[in-house]
Amino acid sequence: MKCPICRSDDTRSLLLLKGFDIRRCRRCDHLWAAGGGPADYPNEPSLLERFKKEESLHRALMRKNLGFITKWLPPGARILDFGCGSGMFVLEAREAGYDAVGIDLARWVADAAAHWQLPLHVGPLESAGFAEESFDAIVSIVCFEHLEDPVGITGQLVRLLKPGGLLAVLSIPHSRGLPWLVTGDRWWDLEPPNHLHFFSRSSLATLFRSHGLNVLGSRTTGVGTGFFSSLLGRGRDERTTLDLFQQQTNAGTNGNGAHGPIKWFASRVAIPVVNAVLNITNLGNNLTMVGRKA
Ligand SMILES: [Zn+2]
Repeated sequence: MKCPICRSDDTRSLLLLKGFDIRRCRRCDHLWAAGGGPADYPNEPSLLERFKKEESLHRALMRKNLGFITKWLPPGARILDFGCGSGMFVLEAREAGYDAVGIDLARWVADAAAHWQLPLHVGPLESAGFAEESFDAIVSIVCFEHLEDPVGITGQLVRLLKPGGLLAVLSIPHSRGLPWLVTGDRWWDLEPPNHLHFFSRSSLATLFRSHGLNVLGSRTTGVGTGFFSSLLGRGRDERTTLDLFQQQTNAGTNGNGAHGPIKWFASRVAIPVVNAVLNITNLGNNLTMVGRKA
């Protein structure tokens, strides 16, 4: 079976999981789940109440994502958030003076749009009627791992970019991160059909370059959520209190209710130190890359 990203024949099966064949490309280190379709995103249960409750945390995370790409954005840039979910990035970008809109498949996103008064389109990309070459930047945060066909989607997105426009793929599961290398088939991000593609820096750069994008920068960050529960052998769907602290630490917010010496140590010392080491060594769990259309 060919690698869906670099088209190499040098791929092998690593394991069978939930009826999917988890495969690895030996040329570009791409991992993917073959043999099934994506999850039913239009009918995803609503996450609105959760986002309303955790609004400040998610807005802080989105400010960090925006901060990473600001240096490449023209003032007032027109930005599309592909896979926008609750719209927290669109909200932060609009407050920072950008002309940001979002799109997502999940129907509950319409309720988020109404709640925060945001221009979020619900439906597939072709249903939105966006004009070709109409965006200065397209961001996609925690989204490309969910796509059944990242190559086809990237082609569609690049057509919507103006010449010189940016594509920023942010915080996707990293197939060369320490969490995957250490926890193997217990890696929490290995969850088909929810996650189908796991990029390395090499495979994501290959995807970018094959669509005429010059890579401007990339980074990996943190251990991400679920690291401690994976190490403890807990289920992928369980989110521990420590994982919430991790999110808060990554976002730079105070851990709400962070009581007790162990939790204090985890949120203020252990997780920041582990994250700093992973960021420097490019072994973080989350991969980010920014490219510019020629
Ligand atoms: Zn490959």
